[in-house]
Amino acid sequence: MEIGDLAKRVAAGERRALARAITLVESARADHKAQAAALLEALPKDRQALRIGLSGTPGVGKSTFIESFGMMLVEQGLKVAVLAVDPSSTRSGGSILGDKTRMDRLSRAEGAFIRPSPSQTHLGGVARRSREVVALCEGAGFDVVLIETVGVGQSETVVAQMADIFLLLLAPAGGDELQGVKRGIMEIADVILINKADGDLKAAATRTCGDYAGALRLLRKRPQDPDGFPKAMMVSAAENTGIEAVWQDLLHLRDWRTAQGFWDKTRAEQARYWFEEEVKTTLLSQLQTPAARAALAELGAAVAQGDKAPTAAAAEFLASLPRHSASKP
Ligand code: GDP
Repeated sequence: MEIGDLAKRVAAGERRALARAITLVESARADHKAQAAALLEALPKDRQALRIGLSGTPGVGKSTFIESFGMMLVEQGLKVAVLAVDPSSTRSGGSILGDKTRMDRLSRAEGAFIRPSPSQTHLGGVARRSREVVALCEGAGFDVVLIETVGVGQSETVVAQMADIFLLLLAPAGGDELQGVKRGIMEIADVILINKADGDLKAAATRTCGDYAGALRLLRKRPQDPDGFPKAMMVSAAENTGIEAVWQDLLHLRDWRTAQGFWDKTRAEQARYWFEEEVKTTLLSQLQTPAARAALAELGAAVAQGDKAPTAAAAEFLASLPRHSASKP
């Protein structure tokens, strides 16, 4: 299919076209990359989805939450896409995250689209593609894009860079568990959700929620937050309680940030971030060509023997880089 044609179909919201477009974006082939870039360029630019990042350790209830939250949204007539960023996954054919069987009702819902993480171990590659898949979903007219991650390594930071709002899902625990959540993650969370606030776990959830509310108050106030944010709240994904309240809070956050100019500002900063990431990854990949590696080894040996000074050798190497990458197969 021609790219222009595929773009039209994606923009019309055709699921099969979207799936095909995602496959193109996720492909490592050079010709696919060029096609993917042309496709993204051809999509409508005036569409914005609410991009929600969601993180939490395995077992905390992410898929149960996405199922409840997503079903509530599609029942309101909204179109919801669910994507996963899972750098730890080495399983072929996609990761555990985003596995359709985990979100049984949502995966069958008319207004929902679920896409597992591409199987790839390198976070940089997964991140770039995920960001482009988010853009595809926006171009396809989705109202909400949920980006899920288990939060291994840097994945939360990366997901935060492609999300408008970041949710951290936690399970009820004793107060000492608070230390287990890295400060950096607390700082990027807009809302901390204490899940499983039901049955025997309700009391522990109430305590945990209070602990996190207290911890959030101790953090520096961010300019992009209206009164009361970031906040901690309780939900039960299994019993479907508190889910509507989460949505109302997210809408409030979105409206406030839009009115104050933070919405566009954040998106502009994110665009700049991804531009710089792209430059960095491209430069790093130029270091990996056989010619570049050979030159590095050779100059490295000369430096080690004292034949060349490190700075001079580095300058010589960097000057030769364009030549190496030009001779790339
Ligand atoms: P994920 O690994 O983060 O996606 O977690 P899952 O959604 O697969 O849930 C892990 C386990 O927690 C499952 O056994 C769920 O049934 C259970 N669970 C999820 N949400 C709730 C909840 O709100 N309350 C209770 N009691 N259990 C829940």
